[in-house]
Amino acid sequence: MEIVNPGFEDYHIHSLNYSDGMSTVDEIAKYAEDIGLTRIAITDHCQAHLDKKLFGNNFYYSMVSRWKNIHNDVHVQFGVEADILNESGDVCMDIQGITPDLILLSTHPAPIYSGDTRKITDAYVNAIERYHDKISFLSHPCSKYFEDFIDIDAVTELCNKYEIPMEFNCANFVYNRTNISNLKKMLSTVNRIYVNSDAHTLNELKELRKMGFEYLRENNFIKL
Ligand SMILES: [Zn+2]
Ligand SMILES: [Zn+2]
Repeated sequence: MEIVNPGFEDYHIHSLNYSDGMSTVDEIAKYAEDIGLTRIAITDHCQAHLDKKLFGNNFYYSMVSRWKNIHNDVHVQFGVEADILNESGDVCMDIQGITPDLILLSTHPAPIYSGDTRKITDAYVNAIERYHDKISFLSHPCSKYFEDFIDIDAVTELCNKYEIPMEFNCANFVYNRTNISNLKKMLSTVNRIYVNSDAHTLNELKELRKMGFEYLRENNFIKL
């Protein structure tokens, strides 16, 4: 297993501007330098998720093309946490009609995923078969949301086939929203993983990845 971002790079962060984070893109960019990050991605929830959770749209997403990090040299990229909507593998990949290049394939329980929960493996398989050339990685595939029905081995195998990395999601792990048995299965067979915070706050940006790496070291998934 290879870790795509073993150093100071975090590719799963939520902002106040575009979804449910508590800090603005500017605050996140500034703070990232303070804690030694060199590359980050602001990956807010997709439009279907925002609509169903009744999150407001306070900022125009088109502004991200005009935004620059004026604070420091941290490389800031914009992405989207795209949701699978049903077992046919329909995926919402946009925010306000704009689809960024970095696409995290994700699932969240109803009302966001509105298909048959028992068919969540079909949902993943169909979404990956349809969109594998667009998907950057799978975010929190081992979450407890669908633990009773997901065939994590089948999903991992398909990700390996299409060279799609999977994510060790540190927020899910730290807040006890990870199915550990699925996590161990995934880590023992996956080719490449990202270790990301899924931070919604600055303290999470600072602390969560450290705790994730500790788990990986203690359980001998990485040798350091
Ligand atoms: Zn969120
Ligand atoms: Zn997220």
